[in-house]
Amino acid sequence: MSNHVQISAYYQSLLESLGPDHPLRRTVFPLDDFSPEPGDSDDPLGEEIHSPVPGLIHTYPDKVLLLATLNCAVYCRYCTRGRLVGKTTNPWGTKSEIQSRWFQWLGKHEKVRDVLISGGDPLTLSDGELDGLLAGVRKTDHVRTVRVGSKAPAVWPQRITPALADILAKHRVWLQLHFIHPAELTQETTQACDTLAAAGVPLVSQTVLLKGINDDVNTLTGLFYGLLERRVKPYYLFQCDPVTGSSSFRTPVEKGLQLISELQGRVSGLALPVFALDAPGGGGKIPLLPNSRFHREGNEIVLTNYEGKEYRYPDPEGGIQPAAETPRL
Ligand SMILES: *Cc1c(COP(=O)(O)O)cnc(C)c1O
Repeated sequence: MSNHVQISAYYQSLLESLGPDHPLRRTVFPLDDFSPEPGDSDDPLGEEIHSPVPGLIHTYPDKVLLLATLNCAVYCRYCTRGRLVGKTTNPWGTKSEIQSRWFQWLGKHEKVRDVLISGGDPLTLSDGELDGLLAGVRKTDHVRTVRVGSKAPAVWPQRITPALADILAKHRVWLQLHFIHPAELTQETTQACDTLAAAGVPLVSQTVLLKGINDDVNTLTGLFYGLLERRVKPYYLFQCDPVTGSSSFRTPVEKGLQLISELQGRVSGLALPVFALDAPGGGGKIPLLPNSRFHREGNEIVLTNYEGKEYRYPDPEGGIQPAAETPRL
């Protein structure tokens, strides 16, 4: 968790309008019990040991994560990077020193084709700083896709100007947003998403499953459909990381599986995110699927649909070839 409490004027007025008992308050203000539990960690994803260069995290062969800033407009009480965010001085040096080390590293790592820029919230950088960072990343030829993670449309929608949207579109950025509750889908947020979509910025959203905040089927249905209406594809629903002090926010893993299986089949397939757990220690994101609801009976696969009804698919027995190594296209 983060020790820093900060809230944008916009999000504060949203929380005020939702009333004193709204569960979203707990995600911003330190109202919960934050005592550490056994198994909690300040760095649950093992990011420190997977940083060949400060602020650059490399746990997958194809992709790399850059921590562009340690600032956010609002600090989340369940933040997995609470050990870093909110610091007034960046311990790794000046932005230009840090970035030139990243660009050198990227140039030498030809397998990396996907760069995810996160933080902190990269949209707390100025337009000029962001444009410079994106241009620097884009200079490396083997980097083909660039993503930026941000909570700004949810907590600071005024940040999303046509000029910013044009910078993101110019560098062909995929924007990964962070929404946790349908109450965040205000008129201002809708306007921000419209501005981004109009500029041609593809939008996806990540949601952390949070006990007492969004761990019920109606809240998640409202959130995922609401995002889809605003042209934001729900991408991941995350099991909350076991970051120090976050236990009051965590649900049992089975709860997420139950929610996903209740949603699956009922809601539009486009509204359904992948439920995933980020493996402690740097194992990466592991998708979790509800009880694989099929088995083989001779030449048929017997499957169970979302209503619990059985269906049969003809599929002759006969073995599959072992998977070859993933080809690099
Ligand atoms: C989440 C993450 C990514 C991106 O993972 P996707 O599943 O491709 O969205 C990349 N690197 C690190 C270190 C991450 O934590």
